Amino acid sequence: MEIENVVIIGSGPAGYTAAIYAARADMKPLLFEGQQLGGQPGGQLMLTTEVENFPGFPEGLMGPEMMEKFKKQAERFGTRILSEDVTEVDFSSRPFKLNAGGKEILANSVIVCTGAQVIWLAVPGEEQYQGHGVSSCATCDGFFFRDKEILVVGGGDSALEEASFLTRFAKKVTVVHRREALRASKIMQDRAMKNPKIEFVWNTEVREVLGDGTKMTGVRIFNNQTNTESELSAEGLFVAIGHKPNTGIFVGKLDLDEKGYLLVKPGSTQTSVEGVFAGGDVADHKYRQAITAAGTGCMAALDAERWTANQD
Ligand code: NAP
Repeated sequence: MEIENVVIIGSGPAGYTAAIYAARADMKPLLFEGQQLGGQPGGQLMLTTEVENFPGFPEGLMGPEMMEKFKKQAERFGTRILSEDVTEVDFSSRPFKLNAGGKEILANSVIVCTGAQVIWLAVPGEEQYQGHGVSSCATCDGFFFRDKEILVVGGGDSALEEASFLTRFAKKVTVVHRREALRASKIMQDRAMKNPKIEFVWNTEVREVLGDGTKMTGVRIFNNQTNTESELSAEGLFVAIGHKPNTGIFVGKLDLDEKGYLLVKPGSTQTSVEGVFAGGDVADHKYRQAITAAGTGCMAALDAERWTANQD
């Protein structure tokens, strides 16, 4: 059975950048773009609006378009891309064993770039009305909310980015935040505060998504300062409260931190198993940017290449 030089798991900025570097180093990478494991092929940028902070694109570009460009560049240098999810890994001996689509793959080295995915509120009605008012993706669904009143939950950069984008369509966007201070960066705060279509509701938690059985009609909210509940009517709810790493298949196989992110040796992409490297958000709960994911994806490919050369 053929042994792959390097298998890359994941197809966000980290995975594709690792593939570009590994392919150009003649490692003939095999990349699993994944369906469920990373949330979606292409990673979180597939659910993003305009990316304005990726150097080299002064006019900005849409997340999905950016990922298409990453993919094409990886393919240009010979990366083989398969759409299955890797569902099982065995890192206990080399070559490593991976299972994808019921097939076993052997690999001398592995680069994990499985990213992170949306955290939902986990309140009644949220799941029922997903696609019927409840969303986590302004790019995908914003268009459906033309002239409507919508809510965004969260106080970080994601929430304000979604809120600002949604004002292109919506009549009014209300940001519901559980504290009275935002976590978002100053520039995003300033932009949102200046936007006449954005309002804020502070110290407030969404307790339930209300609806008429077919679509959402509002939310039940709880003010944690006055300890009172009330209802807020809205036709849309965008949840933007953060992400969790896609590390389920690595539990017990690689060392994780308390939030479930992969641990790597400081200053490198080496995980707790020699020959297994990690890049992007799966090992980064701090920076979580497309550019930092691409950077650590590049590092992972260079680390894998050097490690492989030393094995030979
Ligand atoms: P985040 O910074 O972790 O913010 C999550 C927000 O959701 C916080 O305000 C948090 O409230 C709130 N929250 C968490 N759990 C909640 C719950 N169960 N119910 C209600 N509210 C809840 O996440 P993020 O906004 O997704 O950003 C993640 C990272 O990506 C950050 O480093 C951010 O700077 C970066 N990012 C950058 C850009 C950009 O530069 N264009 C865009 C998007 C994201 P508390 O504040 O009370 O904890």
